[in-house]
Amino acid sequence: MLRASLLAAARSRRMRSLVEAVPATRSVVRRFVAGAETADAVRVARELAADGRRITLDHLGEDTTDAAQASATVRAYETLLNALGAEGLATGADVSVKLSAVGQFLPSNGEDVALENARKICAAADAVGATVTLDMEDHTTTDSTLGILRELRAEYPWVGAVLQAYLRRTEQDCRELSGPGSRVRLCKGAYAEPEEVAYQGKSEVDKSYVRCLRILMAGKGYPMVASHDPRMIAIAAKLAADAGRTAEDHEFQMLYGIRPEEQRRLAGEGNTMRVYVPYGDEWYGYFMRRLAERPANLTFFLRGLATK
Ligand code: FAD
Repeated sequence: MLRASLLAAARSRRMRSLVEAVPATRSVVRRFVAGAETADAVRVARELAADGRRITLDHLGEDTTDAAQASATVRAYETLLNALGAEGLATGADVSVKLSAVGQFLPSNGEDVALENARKICAAADAVGATVTLDMEDHTTTDSTLGILRELRAEYPWVGAVLQAYLRRTEQDCRELSGPGSRVRLCKGAYAEPEEVAYQGKSEVDKSYVRCLRILMAGKGYPMVASHDPRMIAIAAKLAADAGRTAEDHEFQMLYGIRPEEQRRLAGEGNTMRVYVPYGDEWYGYFMRRLAERPANLTFFLRGLATK
């Protein structure tokens, strides 16, 4: 119930103005977001690299219906990738892109614009030795996102995508995306989805996550295990070992600010550990989805407001 309300609020303009108007919100948001500027993203990338953690950087923003805004997002990624290159941080780095931030929802030719814009980001990544992963948004965008992924991979075979285990279709998508070179970031899923398309209970979602992991680990691609759940992490480690995978052919991923000690532990044990680091001004939707994931995060947020 609370999760559904927070996810509904994540898409409400009215709630957004209310939450953003509270001055103390920003300092609480800082736990999950690197900062507003490119320099903040680069600083956090350097800090994480110091203890062996890799990065995927997300320039915050989503659901744009403004072509100029979509182009500005592309420029932000280009600036970021150039900065990572100049700082010697680009090799092995990744950027995460929401297609709805680069034009997917534009009223005319949205998909074409998103494809062209994503292509520009891929070219900038290619130039500095980084990779791109397409985030997955609500289920109405899955087919479009996977279609754009196919187009991009024809030119840049290293482009990856997120699949969400809560969707009933995802086992089949995992099968289709488990071929050589295919980078799949498997997460549970963070949006409010109807029963027809998505498992609703945690136990059903967890079981689906494990079924998907089995397919990806047994396949020929590069599985990226995006979860903070200790059970999923332990099962993924076992499946990877059973499949003879080393730290070079699968990885663990977590969100910035969540379970950092576990991130360091996994990296310290020789695993490839990547942290998803969002930065920029458009933090509202991202932040609300984090609150929805865990009541403790909401308590942390409210306590933070109360003590400011
Ligand atoms: P859960 O079952 O939610 O949690 C299990 C345990 O993990 C909890 O008991 C707690 O110990 C810990 N934990 C989980 N979440 C939190 C938290 N917020 N704060 C503190 N502890 C926590 N979703 C999408 O829909 N599309 C995407 O493109 C997408 N990309 C992602 C990329 C990465 C790298 C990651 C890590 C997640 C991404 N997600 C995405 C979010 C994902 O779908 C889940 O909503 C989120 O990761 C929580 O699920 P979980 O697997 O961690 O397990």
